[in-house]
Amino acid sequence: MEVRVLRRVLEKNDRAADEVRELLSAHGVRAINLLGGAGCGKTALLERLLPILRPALRCGVLEGDLATTLDAERIAAIGVPVTQLLTEGGCHLTAPHVRRALDSLPLDKRDLVISENVGNPICPANFDLGEHARLAALSVAEGADKPQKYPLLFKDAAGVVITKLDLLPHVSFDLHRVTLDLGRLNPAARLFLTSAERGHGLAGLAAWFRGMARGNDDATGPRGGRAILN
Ligand code: MG
Ligand code: ZN
Repeated sequence: MEVRVLRRVLEKNDRAADEVRELLSAHGVRAINLLGGAGCGKTALLERLLPILRPALRCGVLEGDLATTLDAERIAAIGVPVTQLLTEGGCHLTAPHVRRALDSLPLDKRDLVISENVGNPICPANFDLGEHARLAALSVAEGADKPQKYPLLFKDAAGVVITKLDLLPHVSFDLHRVTLDLGRLNPAARLFLTSAERGHGLAGLAAWFRGMARGNDDATGPRGGRAILN
């Protein structure tokens, strides 16, 4: 019985994800699902990245959180269309959430929709949101063991972004180990080393977003396991 219930939930999700993909392609819009643990710096990264992408790339953002509109307010403050999705206790976004929220974004005037998932390194990875690519975020403050402990977060990601690199002198984080583990887990993923605080590594990541928006799934950036500090 439990298995049947779980399957029904995932089937419902996958149907909605297909609807999302159809709706997006009807408008020529591409979508990215940004995933990572709570506090890994997803919103801060978007705050720095969105102004770089504008005006060439017209982005819309969906913010997934359990409570508050704090993150949506930060995105709205930089003038990017945003919808806050409140899961009210749910620990991940689902495709039906995204499908409903797309009605609130001006899709005719957007090139790329970025969904910032609920801060959680675990179950968001199990739910297809109808995205064209996943970007997994890991901050140096979380620890170098995370790719091994949460492999699903990284396994299907087209890109992996290491955040808060400015904290590296203050934390114990073995960047070499992480690049090796990511290279083993997902050798095709593009790897980006960034600091939103210092503005480091954002040009390379912006190029990846532009490539994704053009439908170029082989977008620029070093492959996993060959991280370059920039
Ligand atoms: Mg956030
Ligand atoms: Zn969950």
